[in-house]
Amino acid sequence: MTQGLTERLKKIAERSERKLPALTDIRRGLHRHPEAGWTEFRTTGVVVNRLRELGYRVETGSACVHPDAVRGWPEDAVVRESRAQAGDLARDIEVPGAVGILERGDGPTVALRFDMDATEVSESDDPAHPPVAQGFASGRPAVMHACGHDAHVTIGLGAAELLAEDPDWRGRVKLLFQPAEEGGRGAHPMVEAGVVDDADYFACLHMGGPTLPLGEVALEATHFLSSVKMEARFRGVASHAGGAPERGRNALLAACQATLALHSLPRNGQGATFVNVGVLNAGTGTNVVPSDALMKYEVRGGTDEICELMEEGARRCLSGAATLQGVEVETEITGRTIGAKSDNEMKDHLAWIAGSSPVDFRVHDARPLGGGEDATYFMRRVQERGGKSLYFLLGGSTPTGHHTSTFDVDERALAHGAMLMAGMVLRLTGSGA
Ligand SMILES: [Zn+2]
Repeated sequence: MTQGLTERLKKIAERSERKLPALTDIRRGLHRHPEAGWTEFRTTGVVVNRLRELGYRVETGSACVHPDAVRGWPEDAVVRESRAQAGDLARDIEVPGAVGILERGDGPTVALRFDMDATEVSESDDPAHPPVAQGFASGRPAVMHACGHDAHVTIGLGAAELLAEDPDWRGRVKLLFQPAEEGGRGAHPMVEAGVVDDADYFACLHMGGPTLPLGEVALEATHFLSSVKMEARFRGVASHAGGAPERGRNALLAACQATLALHSLPRNGQGATFVNVGVLNAGTGTNVVPSDALMKYEVRGGTDEICELMEEGARRCLSGAATLQGVEVETEITGRTIGAKSDNEMKDHLAWIAGSSPVDFRVHDARPLGGGEDATYFMRRVQERGGKSLYFLLGGSTPTGHHTSTFDVDERALAHGAMLMAGMVLRLTGSGA
C-alpha cells in the first residue's frame, strides 16, 4: 500500500506544480479584492462557483454558519457596501462561508479548513513590493491580505481540484471555507452548525512566519493564545460642563479609568498574559460632560484558565470604574479563541507525506504560533468526538512578518500547500492500496 501511495503522491505533486500558474491567478484575484471578517461575500462567491465547477456539493448560509453563534458582526452599512462591491458573485450568498463536500464511497470523513478574511492594514505602495510591482495590490483602503489567507483559500481550491481529479480515494472530504478568523469570530458558528460533527480527521494550515522559508514545514503549531475580545459601552448623563457639571455622569472618565485599570491587571505566574485597549471613543463637545463612551479591548492568556482569570479581572476593572463615576456599563463578547493541541498521529501522517513527496521539504517538529486562532474550535470538537486534529505551518511568506503592510507570500508555496492537503486526504482515507 505504501508503495502505491508514494507513486500517487508523486503524481499529485506534479499535477500541483502544473497548476501553479492558475493558482497564482486565483491568489492574485483574491489579493486585489481583500475582504475583512464577515464581509467575504466576493471571496465566498469565487469559492462556491469554483467548487461547483469541480463537482462538489456546496453548503452555504445557516447550514454552515449557525446564526445564533455569530459574534462581532459588522455595521449594516459595511455589510451592504461589501455586498455591492461583490456584485453578481454575492447574489446567492446570505452570509460569508461555504463548505464543499465530495464523496467517494465508504471511508472516513476528512475536514480541511481554509480561512478567507483579510486584515485591517493598508497595503504598502512601495514600487518594490511585489503586489504593487505586478499590479495586484489591494484595491481597497485599509484592508489587505496581510496574513496570507488569500494563499490559504487558493491552496484549498487547489486541493479541491487535485482531489476531484483523483478517482481512487474512498471516503468523504469536506472543505471548510471559514470567514472572520481575525478576531476569533468565524469558526465557532461553523462548529455550532455541526460542520465537523461527522469528521474523523481535521487539518488546517497557516503560512508560517519569517523563520519558516519556502520548502519548510512545521508539523505542529504550538502556543495558541486563548483570547477574548470585548466591546464595552459606558452610559452616563450629559450636562453643561460649566453651568452644572455636578449633574453629569462622566462616561469618558469611567472609560479612561477602566483603561488604566485594565493595563494594571497583575501578570500570571503560570503563563503569558496580554491586555490591550485598542479603541476608545467618547464625548461630543468641549462644553458637555460626556455621556457615552465605547471601548474595545482584548485579554489573552497562555492557557484557557489564565485567559479566564484575565477576563474576570477585566470585568472588575470595568464595573469598578463605572461605579466610581456613577455610570452604567454593558459589555459584549465580540470574539474568542481557545487553546488546542495537534494529535501526534496526524503529525506522523504529515511527516510521511512531506518526506515522501518529490518536493524536498525540510521538516520541523513544531513552531510556536504566537497568537490566537479560532481553528482550535474545530480541532477540539473533532477530538471531543473521538477524531484527530492537526494544525501545521507551511513555509513561504516573505520576511516582513504577518500583519505588516509589506507582507507577501512566495507563490510557489501555493502548489506545496495544495499537494500536502490533497496528500493528507489520500493518506487518511487509506487509499493507494
Ligand atoms: Zn492568519
